[in-house]
Amino acid sequence: MPAPPLRTSPGALRAGLLGGAVPVVGLWLVQAEPSVRLDALFATLAHLSGLLAGYGILVMLLLMARVPAVEHGVGADRLARWHARGGRYVLTCCFAHAVLALCGHAAHTGTDLLSAAGGLLGYPGLAAAAAGTALLVFVGLSSARAVRRRVRHETWRAVHLLTYAGAALAFAHQLAGPDLAGGPLAAWWWTMLHTTVGVLLVWYRLVVPVRQALRHSLRIIEVRTEAPDVVSVVMQGIGLDALRAEPGQFFRWRFLGRRLWRTSLPFSLSAPVRDDTLRITVKACGDHTRRIRRLRPGVRVLATGPFGALTAHRRTRPKVLLLAGGVGITPLRALFETLPGEPGDLTLLYRAGNAAQLVLRDELEAIADSRGAALHYLLGPSDGPFDPLSPRALRNLVPDLDEHDVYLCGPPGMHTAAAIALERAGVPARRIHSEQFAF
Ligand SMILES: Cc1cc2nc3c(=O)[nH]c(=O)nc-3n(C[C@H](O)[C@H](O)[C@H](O)COP(=O)(O)OP(=O)(O)OC[C@H]3O[C@@H](n4cnc5c(N)ncnc54)[C@H](O)[C@@H]3O)c2cc1C
Repeated sequence: MPAPPLRTSPGALRAGLLGGAVPVVGLWLVQAEPSVRLDALFATLAHLSGLLAGYGILVMLLLMARVPAVEHGVGADRLARWHARGGRYVLTCCFAHAVLALCGHAAHTGTDLLSAAGGLLGYPGLAAAAAGTALLVFVGLSSARAVRRRVRHETWRAVHLLTYAGAALAFAHQLAGPDLAGGPLAAWWWTMLHTTVGVLLVWYRLVVPVRQALRHSLRIIEVRTEAPDVVSVVMQGIGLDALRAEPGQFFRWRFLGRRLWRTSLPFSLSAPVRDDTLRITVKACGDHTRRIRRLRPGVRVLATGPFGALTAHRRTRPKVLLLAGGVGITPLRALFETLPGEPGDLTLLYRAGNAAQLVLRDELEAIADSRGAALHYLLGPSDGPFDPLSPRALRNLVPDLDEHDVYLCGPPGMHTAAAIALERAGVPARRIHSEQFAF
């Protein structure tokens, strides 16, 4: 029997990353020279903010390295949220570092800020550091919600690649800086941290996807219409068991078809892996998802993954409620079939605007019948007079709701409303396991 996959819990990862900042602050402390002079005070605070910014950049890269134990234990959506929040912190540290260094230099030389800036840029490596900071600020601004809503996902991703250039320039600046240049041990440790993260990035974001593509030779064997705007795509490959994909997880898919091959899109498995086939179910909501409907059998597919932590390992109770909204049914359909349970243990609530929008309905009903599981459709417009996701409505359908683990997947609005209603109905937040179809 193969060993269960390694998973890092969110708490352990958070503790590890915060703990990693301790030696960074320690490095600053041993070098800091107590002084009441204004220029020295600015300089010492500039060193602290610079070191923390450097560490923060490393953490940002690590969170996005797609390390399986982290992806499977923490979940891609949570990692993306931490990355976005951490990015703001890193930019604040970069900004503080630049301003404090500038003020320190101005106070030291007795010049104004503009002359001090000109003077600083003359130091070796500082022009590169300024360019690195400018790149990181540019990437940060492109991720602001107001900007992101207006740019295409591909453009935003392409801009994000500049992070690597920004991080490399910042690294060169840090090595030349006073905290590391004077201490070979500290410089070695800092270099090892960066090398490790660099190797993880190259391995999991480049080598593993190429290896998977060569090894599994995935091709589409069927494209089936499930509803007017929803299709299921069935793909077959070689040795797919080796992927160890679990129900509830997703892959990033690159279809080597016309006007699709340049983009990789995340879609959850809508059925467990069987007979060397993978299946996804896709709702057309934009240019790429509309093109997926036109794909034909024979098209090659590159799949990277599996990712995601919405799997059976999160379960803590015998009773489980699966709560799906719209196309969020896909991972829950796979879990509905495979989560272990006795008759009466599983309930699936499926929220949709009307009956025509329900997908995979025959399969869901067959699974409910064969497993003795409860299945309810919650139909109606989201702004209708009756809210089927209110705490009272949920408790009417599932009277012992607070005894359940809940797996929740749906569009952002429904997701937030359902999570609040579940907590009000007595389900503690730690037992609500969710995934959002948005990064
Ligand atoms: C973990 C996860 C699992 C998902 N599972 C399913 C599923 O099983 N079935 C399904 O129909 N949909 C699923 N989605 C949503 C699906 O990925 C998007 O609807 C699709 O990428 C939109 O592409 P588009 O170009 O047609 O639409 P667009 O109009 O270009 O984009 C619509 C939305 O999708 C986002 N998006 C676009 N491209 C990407 C990308 N490469 N990566 C992340 N987000 C992107 C955009 O930021 C935008 O918010 C999932 C999303 C995530 C994050």
